[in-house]
Amino acid sequence: MSRAEIVVDLAAIRGNIRVLRERTGVAMMTVVKADGYGHGMLASARAARAAGSEWLGVATVDEALALRAAGDTGRVLCWLTVPADDLAPVLAADIDVTVYTVDGLERVAEAAARAGLREAGRPARVQLKIDTGLSRGGATVAQWPELAARARDGEQGGAWRITGIWSHFSTSEVPEDPANAEQEKVFEEALAVAAAAGLRPEVRHLANSAAALLRPSSRYDLVRCGLASYGLDPAPGRHDLVLVPAMTVRADLALVKHIDAGDSVSYGHTWTAPAPTTLGLVPIGYAEGIARRAAAGDQPAAQVLVAGRRRPIRGAVCMDQFVVDLDGDTPEVGDEVLLWGPGTRGEPTAQDWALASGTISYEVVTRIGGRLTRRYVDSDTDQHDAQHDAQGERER
Ligand SMILES: *Cc1c(COP(=O)(O)O)cnc(C)c1O
Repeated sequence: MSRAEIVVDLAAIRGNIRVLRERTGVAMMTVVKADGYGHGMLASARAARAAGSEWLGVATVDEALALRAAGDTGRVLCWLTVPADDLAPVLAADIDVTVYTVDGLERVAEAAARAGLREAGRPARVQLKIDTGLSRGGATVAQWPELAARARDGEQGGAWRITGIWSHFSTSEVPEDPANAEQEKVFEEALAVAAAAGLRPEVRHLANSAAALLRPSSRYDLVRCGLASYGLDPAPGRHDLVLVPAMTVRADLALVKHIDAGDSVSYGHTWTAPAPTTLGLVPIGYAEGIARRAAAGDQPAAQVLVAGRRRPIRGAVCMDQFVVDLDGDTPEVGDEVLLWGPGTRGEPTAQDWALASGTISYEVVTRIGGRLTRRYVDSDTDQHDAQHDAQGERER
């Protein structure tokens, strides 16, 4: 164990993906972008494949190529390219790329030609994205008929195969928001336009984690689950699926000391002790991705578990460290501090930290890093090994 580390339980990731697959009943694309939401992209990808994910989803071509370089041979979709990205090695690596402009189709044609894919009898795999209301990536409804027609022409000419048509929700964690039904309606219309143009995609997809859980009509042929795969809840209190957070962040307590009433803590002295107390020093700071205002926003301060109790952060989080209120207790220096985890030992969750820091759990887990090391455990096999060892002891 290092002084301060991220511990990722791969069994939790596999288990979450299995229950999501059961619940949704369609193919699964596990989203492993942004280093697997902070859990490590390659290990998360392997866990996802072990749990039966037919697809992996990433944002950038570099992420997609890193999956291939690590030996992943399954279906991979990437969705955020820029003109400077060289698509030839991406297409040659059998990665599905997302296109939403006619220019984008031309770039694919040029890259596929350079990669010699037509001669190889392996047309480039392209998925078209329609903007159904997020106003982020994707063809507008006005651009869609031309894009679909050009995509079909190229497909007939053997330049590429249109493997998928997809879109992305803006507000899926609020199922009663009318934007969801509106986006689904625009998606249906886009599918009809594409079908009329002669496109027959393998997969149509729209749902992220929240929609996969809350909106069965949006599941189509596959769901793209990021957050829920890591056991974080995209819509707390709105469904009954049990997810297990895979990430724990822990550190060794660096110092314990007494302060007097009236002593102020950390830069800017934003907190002053109303009574004598004890403080604990935690060797993780904003360089590791802890929000500086985790204890200075409008919400109650974020907490950590030390010596069996949750302790609030006091004062501003510093670059390398922060201070917690031990309320007169004097745990040992070196004792374990749990920032967040699955909650099974009484520690806060990433969702608790999100609320305290004025953000969402996505940001809490994705930003954590800096000097922390990452360690993988497997609560299935580790437990299995432990039992095995115990038995070995008895036999000896
Ligand atoms: C990140 C992302 C997802 C995953 O969303 P979650 O809410 O984490 O499940 C799905 N689709 C697209 C296009 C994304 O960018």
